[in-house]
Parts: sequence; structure tokens; C-alpha cells
Amino acid sequence: MTSIMSVQVAKKILFGEGSVELLPEEIKLLSGKKIFLVMDDGFSRTTMAQKIVTILKEGEFPYILFNKVTPEPEPAWADEGADLARKEKCNLVVGVGGGSSMDVAKAVAILVTNNGKAVDYVGLEKVTRPGLPTIMIPTTAGTGSEVTFTAVFTMRKTRSKGGINSRFLYPDLALLDPELTLTLPPDITAATGMDAFIHALEGFTSVQANPLSDTFAREAMTTIGNNVRLAVANGNNRPARRKMLMGSLLAGMTLASAGVGACHALAYPLGAFFDIPHGLANAVLLPYVMRYNIIGALARYAEVAEILGADTSEFTLREAADMAVDEVSILLEDVGMLKTLGELDIPESSIKEMAEAAMKVERPIANNPRIMTKESAISIYKEAF
Ligand code: NAD
Repeated sequence: MTSIMSVQVAKKILFGEGSVELLPEEIKLLSGKKIFLVMDDGFSRTTMAQKIVTILKEGEFPYILFNKVTPEPEPAWADEGADLARKEKCNLVVGVGGGSSMDVAKAVAILVTNNGKAVDYVGLEKVTRPGLPTIMIPTTAGTGSEVTFTAVFTMRKTRSKGGINSRFLYPDLALLDPELTLTLPPDITAATGMDAFIHALEGFTSVQANPLSDTFAREAMTTIGNNVRLAVANGNNRPARRKMLMGSLLAGMTLASAGVGACHALAYPLGAFFDIPHGLANAVLLPYVMRYNIIGALARYAEVAEILGADTSEFTLREAADMAVDEVSILLEDVGMLKTLGELDIPESSIKEMAEAAMKVERPIANNPRIMTKESAISIYKEAF
């Protein structure tokens, strides 16, 4: 644990069923005149997407719809979006969708006012000027991108994944309406829900963990742990959907303060090399990374076991920590996550290259509770086969 705490998130958070109806007022508060609306292709076909378009039309806001985004976005899409937003003289960006759309939207907003391409800004604090104002509306529960300073891109040509991390990326408004998540199918509910759980868990065991991030993390793990099965079993379960969106928000706030760990670093190459969706990649690796980390986080893992419903009172700390891995594995199995890299058709021959790529994901590697080396990354991947 570090002695210096830091937390910064979106400037304003609105949460609740029907909150999307407040969009016109919020646009006016941000002096929005012409809206650049980023949506992913899949979500833009849903009735919920139509509802957002109708709200904009009724508010008489001119808008440009950019719905080219598909999962694990390329930085070129942000460049294309920024060219269009500039040409159309849009002055506010609304991002609607999962992390993929919100990240493109966040990048578009800064590219309109900064020169260059999205790839130029991948890294830490490379953006020099504030962007257009932004409103982020998540439709998965989820990445927490609506509150964070990150926009993640997959550079398929160089087989790498990286984020633009900048203080100018914090959204002006995170608008969370659980009704927008009702159309999520069970498999995406599971993968994105477990991604959120992992943000909270890795933040909770991060070397950057602090009393603020711990508060968010405990609540996020409890909320997601109690509700992800329900949301996967029946997507129309409104209370479960509400809790999942709250859990993913809190998990996003955890990662904004404490960062994530080696599970994320090892998952990145699965996305960059083999296009495995972010949530699924994290979920497959989680039990293996936890087994490796256990001696660096005994008390924390013991608490995770309790949070997930285990009674650890009769057991030693070491046994209780092990129970966290068991509880997480049961949770992953219940929501239908795959268990091995073999099931994802990843060739075993790519392990060394993936381990080298994972070690370059510096901040999550540095946050991990147990020192991670290339050799340990290799053995975790091997075990995951
Ligand atoms: P996603 O945005 O890629 O969406 C996954 C799928 O869900 C898409 O096919 C989409 O069309 C569909 N979808 C989304 N909402 C829907 C809805 N309500 N109904 C039906 N279908 C819907 O998935 P994601 O997991 O939210 O985002 C992943 C991306 O976010 C990755 O690129 C990842 O690296 C990034 N990420 C960013 C941050 C951050 O802080 N910026 C954090 C974690 C992950």
C-alpha cells in the first residue's frame, strides 16, 4: 500500500433508471450546440439506441452519428471520427456503448483540439490541450470507461494494445442508465461483468490500494458477486442490472485510484494477437494469476473469499486466501466463462511472445502484489493451457 492517495474521476456522475432523459439538460449545461454521437455498430441497432437518437431530435440538437465502432477499436477510427467532427463543427461528444465506443469518443474529443493522430498520444500524459466536452453513457457493465482517464486501443499491425492516458480524458459527465443494459445478451453480460469484478479485485490487491480505493473495491466486489449470476440468468432482472451498473461504476472508480494488475497485463496480448474480447481474456486468466499472486496478498484474498460468501472463520489465513481462488473459479464457471487458453484456440507456441508483450504493459505489472517477471508470465500462460 502506498501512503499517497489519488483519485480523480468524471466531473459529474448521474445514475438511475430514466436518467438518459436528462441528456438534453446536460447538453445545454455544457453549451452543446452540435453533437458528435459515437455509438458502436451493434448497439446502434437496438431500440435503446433509437431512444437516444429520439431524445436528441426532440431536444432539437443537430447531431452527427458515427457508428463505425466495433469491439477492441483501432486508433484509426478515432482519427476518422475526429476529422468528421472537425469538418462538421461539432462542439460536444456523446459516447454511447461499451468501453470500445466510449474510448473512441473520448479520443475523438481530444483529437479535435490537438494535432496529430490517436497513436501519437498512446502513453501517459502526452495530450497537451483540453478536448471538446464529453458525455459518456455506458451500455455494458462494464469497463468503467465513463469515469476514467483512459482510452484503450488495439494496434493490430504491431500486435499491441495501449491506452491514451490523460487528465484531459476525464469525461464531463458519466450518465448511467441501467435500462440501457437490458439488451445485453448473457455472454456479454458475463464477460463485461467479470471484467468489472477484476477491476475491483486487482485494485484491491494493487500496491496502489488505499482506503478510498478499498471502499469502492469492497462495494464493487460485493455488488457484482451478488448480482452477476442473476443478470446472466435473466437479463430482464432490473434490480440485478441496476446493481451491475453500480458495481462497474465503483470498479471503474477503484481502477481510477489503484490501477489494475498483472491479469490485465497478461490479457492485453490475447486481445492484440488474437482479438479475444477484453472481458473474456481477463476472465480466463484470472484464477491462474490469483494462484501466482496469493503469497503477495494473503489477507486481501482471504477478505475476497468472505466477500464472495465463503465462511473462512475455521481456516488459516493461507487456506482462506485459497478459498478466494475457489470462489472466483465457481463464479466464472457459473456465468459460463471458458477455463483455458486452449479453449480459446490460442497456439501454445505464442507464449514467449505474449509474455514479452505483457511485460511491456508497465503500470499494471508494477501494481501487481507479487513481482512479475517474464519467466513468471510464461509459467502462468503455460498453466492456463
Ligand atoms: P465493447 O464495447 O467492445 O462491446 C462488446 C459488444 O457488446 C459489442 O458487440 C457491442 O455491440 C455490444 N453491446 C454493447 N452494449 C450493448 C447493449 N446494451 N445491448 C446489446 N449489445 C451491446 O465491450 P466492453 O467490454 O464494454 O469494452 C471493451 C473495450 O474497453 C476494450 O477495448 C477494452 O480494452 C476497453 N477498456 C477500457 C477501459 C477504460 O478505462 N477506458 C477499461 C477497461 C477496458
